[in-house]
Amino acid sequence: MIQLHDKYFKPFLSEGQIQAAVKEVSRKVAADYGEQTPIFVGVLNGSFMFVSDFLKAYPHPCEVSFVKLSSYHGLTSTGIVETLLDVSENIEGRSVIILEDIIDTGRTLKKLVHLFSKSNVKEFKIASLFYKSEIYNGEYAIDYWGIEIPDKFIVGYGLDYKELGRNLKEVYQLNQKHMINLVL
Ligand code: 5GP
Repeated sequence: MIQLHDKYFKPFLSEGQIQAAVKEVSRKVAADYGEQTPIFVGVLNGSFMFVSDFLKAYPHPCEVSFVKLSSYHGLTSTGIVETLLDVSENIEGRSVIILEDIIDTGRTLKKLVHLFSKSNVKEFKIASLFYKSEIYNGEYAIDYWGIEIPDKFIVGYGLDYKELGRNLKEVYQLNQKHMINLVL
């Protein structure tokens, strides 16, 4: 159990489980894009660890860029997704593969689709390490994902709680028992 500010988190996914999932996503994408040079676009801040490990496992030529979006404050999504940094490369005619840390409601994904629909890309795919399938609105297909997880708040491996926990090698889940205790 770790404590970050006012909340307790219990172990959820080990470093080994995460690394195996990252390698599997990378392997699947490589199998589809071996002959091309795709441009991977990481979504900051949460995806930085996933992007790094994904690229180290990716065996073919590729490029990388980043966008920065934000919707969460603490534990809750504000519902408004802002673009804080856009890709600077010319992505016209390129195969763009988004590398997301987590797909939750899908609001961020909607914003990304909108952002990239303005550029004349060859194709646009989504790869997410974590996927909350129970609550995802299903508006766009998720082309690749690593681990389906329940609708619980997680931290670690790039994902934060109030900006803390991003440096953790493992993933932790908000301890519900602790929350109930707080309510009582
Ligand atoms: P969506 O827009 O799909 O609702 O949420 C996507 C973004 O919200 C992610 O890129 C991530 O920054 C944040 N997010 C969603 N679920 C979680 C979670 O369980 N833990 C953390 N730390 N961030 C999350």
